[in-house]
Amino acid sequence: MVVKNTLSGILFDIRRYSVHDGPGIRTTVFLKGCPLNCWWCHNPEGKSPQIEIFQRENRCIRCGACLEVCEAGAIIQHNDSFETNRAICTLCGACVEECYADARELVGKRMTVAEVLAEIERDRPFFQQSGGGVTFSGGEPLFQPTFLGALLKACRSQGIHTAVDTCGYAPWEILDRLRQDVDLFLYDLKLIDEERHHWFTGVSNRIILENLRHLSALGHNIFVRFPIIPYINDDDQNLHLMTEFLLSLPQKLPLDILPYHASALHKYNGLGVEYRLKDTPLPEQERLNEVKDFFEKAGLLVRIGG
Ligand code: SF4
Ligand code: SF4
Repeated sequence: MVVKNTLSGILFDIRRYSVHDGPGIRTTVFLKGCPLNCWWCHNPEGKSPQIEIFQRENRCIRCGACLEVCEAGAIIQHNDSFETNRAICTLCGACVEECYADARELVGKRMTVAEVLAEIERDRPFFQQSGGGVTFSGGEPLFQPTFLGALLKACRSQGIHTAVDTCGYAPWEILDRLRQDVDLFLYDLKLIDEERHHWFTGVSNRIILENLRHLSALGHNIFVRFPIIPYINDDDQNLHLMTEFLLSLPQKLPLDILPYHASALHKYNGLGVEYRLKDTPLPEQERLNEVKDFFEKAGLLVRIGG
């Protein structure tokens, strides 16, 4: 059946053959825009709901072609570097077209539901062989609820397994509307203490915890994901609170521990955004094992990785 849905949204990536975003081999669709501002975010290009200019400084050959072509006057030369004044950049893309060195890129693309579905459909043989499907991630996919809802329905109509990787920060009415078309939620929990959550993500976690409780009470298939970041949420107090909260839910949910990695530094540089965790070490295997043991002793089903 051909789906002709012309509703559109903004994506920043479609990644194929993922084995960490749910069961089997998956195609992960990354939607742009997120209401949180987590210090450790490894997809900073997903935070803004808008299309953005991305610069790869290491590829720039200092030819100055971008400066010449920018009618908005948004490119400024400082000694040896060509910087973008994002406040006046109109995102016309002329500099990207002109840059032979591939040092400039527009991150984000508007696509219709039918176009995204056509991309997902290409991977159907892998889904069938592996028990995989599509995972909607971000950014925060619930940030474009109408678009996400249409994508979920379109996938469901084609018999494709659907997962939503979410931070859970959305009005319950949105989740309630979408949940029937979601086979699996990958639900991030970062910090249980509200004040600390607010400090490190920019928002309260009340709605996140309540939504998880509602989904659990309704019997949904959920994997909880705990991104573990040294000195931010790997302390005993947070582990105790996490355990207490998870054991209080109507279902016993599996827990995936996702070790922090610092691979996003180049993305922050490319977007001209400060990365606040550049001195944060990677979690040590010994600590990861301790955390896993801690949760297991409390009766939770735990994996390292996802
Ligand atoms: S066009 Fe590309 S390579 Fe040339 S100065 Fe601009 S960013 Fe650098
Ligand atoms: S996208 Fe257009 S306005 Fe923005 S820096 Fe490039 S040429 Fe200038």
